[in-house]
Amino acid sequence: MSNDTKKEIDLNQYRESLLRENSRLKEELTRLETLIARTKEALSASSDIDSELQSKRIRQGKYFNSLLANSRDIIIMVDSESRFVYCTQSFLRLLDQDSFSFLNARVFGDIFCSSDFLGLVGALKKSMLERCGLEVPHRTDWAQKISQRDYNVYIAPMVDMSGKSEGAMLLFHDVTEVLAAKEQAEQASRVKSSFLANMSHEIRTPMNAIIGMSELALHEKLSDSASEMVMNIKQAGNNLLTIINDILDFSKIESGKMEIIETVYQLRSFISDIVGIVAAAYLEHQVYFLVEVDGRLPEYIVGDEIRLRQVVLNLLSNAAKYTKEGYIQLTISGEMANNKVNLTIEVADTGIGIKPENMNKIFGDFTRFDKVANHETTGAGLGLAISQSLVKMMNGEISVQSEYGKGSRFKVTTTQKFEGYSPVAFVPNAKNINVIVYEPRQIFADSYKRNLKSLNVNFEVVVDLQEAESKIKSEQFDYVFTIPLAGEFFLNLINTINAQYLSKKNFSKRISLVVIADVQNYIEEPSLSSEILQVYLPVYSVTFADIFNGVVEVSQEHPTTIHTAHFVAPDARVLVVDDNITNLKVAQGLMIPFRVQVDTCDSGMMAVELVGKNKYDLVFMDHLMPEMDGLETTAKIRELPNMDKLPIVALTADSNPSNIATFFGCGMNDFLAKPIDPAKLESILTKWIYKN
Ligand code: ADP
Repeated sequence: MSNDTKKEIDLNQYRESLLRENSRLKEELTRLETLIARTKEALSASSDIDSELQSKRIRQGKYFNSLLANSRDIIIMVDSESRFVYCTQSFLRLLDQDSFSFLNARVFGDIFCSSDFLGLVGALKKSMLERCGLEVPHRTDWAQKISQRDYNVYIAPMVDMSGKSEGAMLLFHDVTEVLAAKEQAEQASRVKSSFLANMSHEIRTPMNAIIGMSELALHEKLSDSASEMVMNIKQAGNNLLTIINDILDFSKIESGKMEIIETVYQLRSFISDIVGIVAAAYLEHQVYFLVEVDGRLPEYIVGDEIRLRQVVLNLLSNAAKYTKEGYIQLTISGEMANNKVNLTIEVADTGIGIKPENMNKIFGDFTRFDKVANHETTGAGLGLAISQSLVKMMNGEISVQSEYGKGSRFKVTTTQKFEGYSPVAFVPNAKNINVIVYEPRQIFADSYKRNLKSLNVNFEVVVDLQEAESKIKSEQFDYVFTIPLAGEFFLNLINTINAQYLSKKNFSKRISLVVIADVQNYIEEPSLSSEILQVYLPVYSVTFADIFNGVVEVSQEHPTTIHTAHFVAPDARVLVVDDNITNLKVAQGLMIPFRVQVDTCDSGMMAVELVGKNKYDLVFMDHLMPEMDGLETTAKIRELPNMDKLPIVALTADSNPSNIATFFGCGMNDFLAKPIDPAKLESILTKWIYKN
């Protein structure tokens, strides 16, 4: 290749590379131009934003100033030397000043030098020194410029980035009206509470007379219609009394005056009181009352027995109100751990039930549902609200399950302490005791099974009569429980038992026959032989244990029989002391046939006062009462002049011989078991009044 040709090729290559570079530079130029255009756009947008921000700030400043100018609260700012640096118009107005210059560089303590402000000046110093926010109540008339006002003063320290004090801000919030309204409300509430307390006392006294007198009138010879009228008066009186008590309790809870008072109580008497009260109330109903108690639960429990009983009685009385047929069941069970028992008390019924939409309203105040269906029942609709508050105060819970038209189940749980474990129902030689129960009603049979299971005895519960008879003939039982059977069947049963006992040598002891009676079905007294024990429903673990332990004696009075007194003592005056108002009423009612004058009171303190004032022939004294128990009250009575001979009879659900010995040791003269047996009451009255 010639040199010329070679040069030409190089030149061409060089031109091409120049062209390529040229187009690359053009591209780069376009890219840069676009970039510059975008940056310009962005810059102009940002200056728009800046000016927008600027005007926003100005607007905010205006709002803020107008807020401060119109604030009714007073805001003051001081520097670290307590010199004024800012205040709101409200403060300047108070000082009769137009501008802040009046305060400029003056010290807080110079302006507010009166003794009024000493506390506030101190608080300001403290807040700045300790860098802490404070809230102080302050009352002042601003050096007599206005009438007294009350303020809540908030003091907030101000610090810079390095933590150095820059002063503080004080905000005076005027609460004069709020305090006045609060005081007014408290005053109104005090008036309401004292009005309710006085009114209830005023109403209760004549109510007791109405109820007591109608009770007395019912024992007179009255025509059927008159007796029905008096019954209605008594019932209405009782209903009214319940409502009054509910309203009182409710107002006590509302005003925070309700207290939970814990004492040691006996589960056995807790249950027997409830059962006694409820069983008496159920006598007129076509409803069965079943009770199930886990016999392993501890006997001595620490808690507020009175309030817990109130809750359970309320649930049971609701169950009774809303159940026309079927059964009502009280179940008491629990778990024990570390000297505490988690008590579960359930009240189930087969009544009208609760509609799903009412379930979460049921514990509300003044709540009553189904007004049409319930038109016959009374109540203020407060019972469950009170019960819930009481259970909450006991750190427990109350809940309900229900199926509308089928029934309801209320459940209360509360944890209580127990002292030195001894079971509420215990049979020492349980494994050697063989029991058969003939009970054709499945629901009762199931309940007996659960009650007996907790006692560890060997038992069979049979619902079929033939099966029961054949088992009794062929097997060895120590106890045969049966419902009251019609004449022939019953005689057959007795014959079977007797024949078996006489014919078989290996029967070491006679079989005990126990009839479980109820109001409609019971064995008439004359036909009761000394070997037959008749007990009344409800029968539960404690009753079974008492029978196995030989505590219950043969022949109990029929509960519906009005006891015919064998003497009257109209001159005798008796005092009954029991913290449970219903128990007082029961005792009072049972003494009516004897025509003795009965006074009642519900506390030991009151008893001591009454005994000091009146002359009594006999005092019935409940054992466990809050504040002052029966033993302490007896001791106090004995200290009074000439009171060493006054007969005092312990009213107790406790049949433990060592406890009964304590009663005698503490100056009591006798004891009467609860629920009160009218025959035993008569023998006590005979012994201490009639024969004296
Ligand atoms: P009251 O005094 O009306 O019984 P409560 O607060 O005890 O007030 O009960 C509120 C309402 O809850 C009752 O009016 C009734 O409608 C309903 N209720 C309560 N217990 C039962 C129950 N066991 N079965 C059906 N309804 C019930």
